[in-house]
Amino acid sequence: MSWSSRALINCAALQHNLSLAKKTASNSKVLAVIKSNGYGHGITEISTSLVDADAFAVATIDEAILVRNRHPDKTIVVLQGFLSKDELSLFQQYKLQAVIHTSTQLDILESTNIVDYALEQNFWFKIDTGMGRLGFSSDNFIKALNRLEKILGNNSNIILMSHFANADDPADHKTIQQLNLFKKIIKSYHYKKSIANSAGLLAWQESHYDWVRAGIMLYGVSPFSQNYKIQDKLQTVMTLESKLIAINIHKQGDSIGYTGDWKCPEDMNVGVVSIGYGDGYPRQASSGTPVLVNGVKTTIVGRVSMDMICIDLRPIANVEIGTTVTLWGEHLAIEEVASYSKTIAYELLCQVGKRVEFVYL
Ligand SMILES: *Cc1c(COP(=O)(O)O)cnc(C)c1O
Repeated sequence: MSWSSRALINCAALQHNLSLAKKTASNSKVLAVIKSNGYGHGITEISTSLVDADAFAVATIDEAILVRNRHPDKTIVVLQGFLSKDELSLFQQYKLQAVIHTSTQLDILESTNIVDYALEQNFWFKIDTGMGRLGFSSDNFIKALNRLEKILGNNSNIILMSHFANADDPADHKTIQQLNLFKKIIKSYHYKKSIANSAGLLAWQESHYDWVRAGIMLYGVSPFSQNYKIQDKLQTVMTLESKLIAINIHKQGDSIGYTGDWKCPEDMNVGVVSIGYGDGYPRQASSGTPVLVNGVKTTIVGRVSMDMICIDLRPIANVEIGTTVTLWGEHLAIEEVASYSKTIAYELLCQVGKRVEFVYL
């Protein structure tokens, strides 16, 4: 087998995390969010492992069609909805559910015959309660909702939804404000409701409502910026690994990698690993970012190159060319790696590149 970098995807862990979501929000349906190529894990394979979810959510029509081709009967929600008549006809053809977040979409619906489509599908009506991104404003959504009700007639299969801006910080009062505003808005409606993402699902029980929208937690990653050690509950899905391709003996003061910023503090061995930003490993990862070799933690030294990183081999016994190096996974939290790159695990997962071989276990 010739591979240099590979991502091992633990499908059983994915299913475990879905069960955890179901158990935690036992009165809600679970919308499994698999946008951005299943958070970088491979959308088609991920959708197959998560087939027990009540529905799937993706961001774009292209993603939705990929999932539809694998799952002829599954409910699929497209979080960005349609923005033209042509796109709406794809929603009808592929039986996709849309998030309605702007009046342009109502114009399109009003000028299209959607009688059959409206009978079959739900319409996710999005209200902005403080995220400031998609959705009708909480002050004047009523006119838009009335329009949608009129379009759909008696069978208004509407789900009122909103999105949290900062539920990943359980101490942030903003989430309570958003929840209170949402509560106030939905009070007058008998429609189904949805506001929780992973953080809401795990930390804000009152946010569960009829549908929870679980993304990052399904992949075994904590949504919380601070205390991310809920790994005893969630199981890690992706392990990213590569191989040592050189072991170099350096003298004290030798500089390592581009710019030569990092200098050997003593005579030491430095390993070269076949992974770089061309594979999606973050270029911003600073010296000191942890990696695992033979189960022992060590760190990268010097800048990340396109195809390679260098690592400190001083703490590691018994290395040879070909030894496996783990960049993140079950025993090395991706959240920790992300913190050394000044980013979040979400981004690292989405960036894992085409050159990396995916193996589904
Ligand atoms: C991405 C997304 C989610 C999932 O968020 P996680 O933090 O990954 O759980 C839920 N709802 C909407 C609207 C989203 O865009």
